[in-house]
Amino acid sequence: MQTQKPQGYRLAELPAEPVAEPGCASCLSLAVARRNARSLGDLSAVSDRNVELRAHRAEAH
Ligand SMILES: [Zn+2]
Repeated sequence: MQTQKPQGYRLAELPAEPVAEPGCASCLSLAVARRNARSLGDLSAVSDRNVELRAHRAEAH
Protein backbone atom coordinates (compact mmCIF):
# COMPACT_ATOMS: atom_id res chain seq x y z
CA MET A 1 0.00 0.00 0.00
CA GLN A 2 1.39 3.34 -1.03
CA THR A 3 -1.22 5.70 0.30
CA GLN A 4 -2.58 5.86 3.75
CA LYS A 5 -5.14 8.31 5.02
CA PRO A 6 -4.36 10.00 8.30
CA GLN A 7 -6.53 8.82 11.11
CA GLY A 8 -8.78 11.23 12.94
CA TYR A 9 -8.40 13.96 10.36
CA ARG A 10 -11.01 16.68 10.85
CA LEU A 11 -12.44 18.33 7.76
CA ALA A 12 -14.65 20.92 9.37
CA GLU A 13 -12.81 22.56 12.16
CA LEU A 14 -14.45 25.91 12.77
CA PRO A 15 -12.33 28.85 13.83
CA ALA A 16 -13.28 30.29 17.19
CA GLU A 17 -15.68 33.19 16.95
CA PRO A 18 -14.79 36.49 18.60
CA VAL A 19 -16.75 37.13 21.76
CA ALA A 20 -18.22 40.39 23.04
CA GLU A 21 -16.24 42.23 25.70
CA PRO A 22 -18.42 42.60 28.81
CA GLY A 23 -19.74 46.14 29.20
CA CYS A 24 -18.88 47.28 25.68
CA ALA A 25 -21.90 48.53 23.74
CA SER A 26 -20.17 48.15 20.36
CA CYS A 27 -19.30 44.53 21.05
CA LEU A 28 -22.79 43.88 22.31
CA SER A 29 -24.50 45.31 19.26
CA LEU A 30 -22.29 43.27 16.93
CA ALA A 31 -22.89 40.12 18.97
CA VAL A 32 -26.65 40.70 18.90
CA ALA A 33 -26.59 41.37 15.16
CA ARG A 34 -24.61 38.16 14.67
CA ARG A 35 -27.11 36.17 16.69
CA ASN A 36 -30.00 37.65 14.71
CA ALA A 37 -28.28 36.85 11.42
CA ARG A 38 -27.68 33.26 12.55
CA SER A 39 -31.29 32.86 13.62
CA LEU A 40 -32.29 33.93 10.09
CA GLY A 41 -29.87 31.44 8.57
CA ASP A 42 -27.88 34.28 6.96
CA LEU A 43 -24.42 32.80 7.34
CA SER A 44 -22.69 35.39 5.18
CA ALA A 45 -24.01 38.11 7.49
CA VAL A 46 -22.81 36.07 10.49
CA SER A 47 -19.37 35.96 8.95
CA ASP A 48 -19.46 39.72 8.23
CA ARG A 49 -20.33 40.46 11.86
CA ASN A 50 -17.47 38.22 12.99
CA VAL A 51 -15.06 40.18 10.82
CA GLU A 52 -16.38 43.46 12.22
CA LEU A 53 -16.27 42.25 15.80
CA ARG A 54 -12.73 40.95 15.39
CA ALA A 55 -11.63 44.27 13.87
CA HIS A 56 -13.39 46.26 16.60
CA ARG A 57 -11.78 44.16 19.31
CA ALA A 58 -8.37 44.58 17.73
CA GLU A 59 -8.58 48.37 17.84
CA ALA A 60 -10.77 49.05 20.88
CA HIS A 61 -9.65 46.45 23.41
ZN1 LIG B 1 -15.98 46.26 22.20
